[in-house]
Amino acid sequence: MANIAVAKFGGTSVATHQAMSRCAAIIKAKSTRTLVVVSAPAGVTNHLVSLSQPGLDLQEQSETIQAIRTIVFNIIDDLSQRDAAEQIGDQVENILADLTVRAASQSLQFDAQNADSILACGEQMSSLVFAQVLNELDVPAQSFDVRRVMKTNSLYSKAVVDIEQVAQLTQSILAPLLDNQVVVTQGFIGQDGLGNTTTLGRGGSDYSAAILAEALVAENLEIWTDVEGIFTTDPRITAQAKSIPEISFGEAAEMATFGAKILHPATLIPAMRKNIPVFVGSSKAPEKGGTRIQQSVESSPTYRSIALRREQSLVTVRSPEMLHASGFLAKVFSILAKHELSVDLITTSEISVAMTFDNPTSNAQALITHEVVKELEQLCEVSVEHGLSLVAVIGNGLHAAKALGSSIFEKINDFNIRLICHGASANNICFLVPESDANSVVSQLHNTLFD
Ligand code: ADP
Ligand code: ASP
Ligand code: MG
Repeated sequence: MANIAVAKFGGTSVATHQAMSRCAAIIKAKSTRTLVVVSAPAGVTNHLVSLSQPGLDLQEQSETIQAIRTIVFNIIDDLSQRDAAEQIGDQVENILADLTVRAASQSLQFDAQNADSILACGEQMSSLVFAQVLNELDVPAQSFDVRRVMKTNSLYSKAVVDIEQVAQLTQSILAPLLDNQVVVTQGFIGQDGLGNTTTLGRGGSDYSAAILAEALVAENLEIWTDVEGIFTTDPRITAQAKSIPEISFGEAAEMATFGAKILHPATLIPAMRKNIPVFVGSSKAPEKGGTRIQQSVESSPTYRSIALRREQSLVTVRSPEMLHASGFLAKVFSILAKHELSVDLITTSEISVAMTFDNPTSNAQALITHEVVKELEQLCEVSVEHGLSLVAVIGNGLHAAKALGSSIFEKINDFNIRLICHGASANNICFLVPESDANSVVSQLHNTLFD
């Protein structure tokens, strides 16, 4: 099916009526059939995360729900068609009433299934309001419950999408709706086989949009956010960061994997499968252009960008038995696999192995728990270090690059580099630094590699 665009708007792009109106103007200017995928207005999902955790007292629950209500009603109050605004206000109040009941039950005891229904509220409210903002610009639009097509397993908080089922349902239910109007749907959320709401992980709206673009065999996927494209590094770290006009799928995927928050790590997988070009731009300044991500690009520089992933843990296991022995690593990895822990970087020496883990404190599933350490200690000595950041220099042909010492490491001579991984990939060189040095390391490295 040709001539369909999928446009995703992130949290800051839909945070106010003015912001939503700018996004609606981007959609109005299009000549293609368009599916819009929205995030929750900025701040809402963080409030929902606190409601999804046990322990909030009634007062805290009610203040948090009030904070959400304020964000959403600030947008609704600015709608000009009052009848429609009132109807949407009623629908939002229904969602908030349901949220109140769910939050009360969650505060007593954590329930993963209920938590996902709580987290999903932001996107549900956002899509209702966004469709009306489009209508007010004379763009016929309707909101659509993505759970009718976004089928997942029941792994709450990081549900896995059933790509084939989504493709089939999207073609039969969603695609025909696009002929007459813009359809506005929710990112981040899905539904399992039991009919329960699921979520795809924080920042998952980018991924939802990519899955829907794949299912529609869209002509292109647009990710509208708060910066003018993908930069050489996070522009919040250094003002020297520059937007990259064109980048390959592989390079951009590598950036996302290594923590560049601009794209959810899985976003490019569906786009690559169907070779759908992706555009990343700022909804605040669409005229300034952005980044085109596509299969082949004109230049493949040795150094393309620097990504930073915080909250990394380093686990070092040491066993004299490893000397000339076989099977030790298999035992270590079987313990990690049992606990569903995935290793990022790894270095080995004669009798020790050091491994890094993404270990954000906000993500219960990723933690190196006491239990994991105890099981590893049955095999070997174990030491665990926290408070580290992973810096990834991303580019092309890095495994064969010369003068790495003078290009990279000489410039960050003053910092302790805790671990280095180089050689396995042509597209990255990664190392760990103490969290407190991370911004300085990235800034200094950026100055030398990109100025
Ligand atoms: P959205 O809510 O639109 O999904 P996010 O906050 O998830 O937006 O992602 C946009 C943010 O990603 C930017 O504000 C920026 O700080 C951060 N970011 C990290 N790395 C990069 C990069 N290489 N290029 C651009 N932005 C980046
Ligand atoms: N609203 C969700 C979050 O903040 C999903 C997203 O914005 O991509 O994580
Ligand atoms: Mg995001």
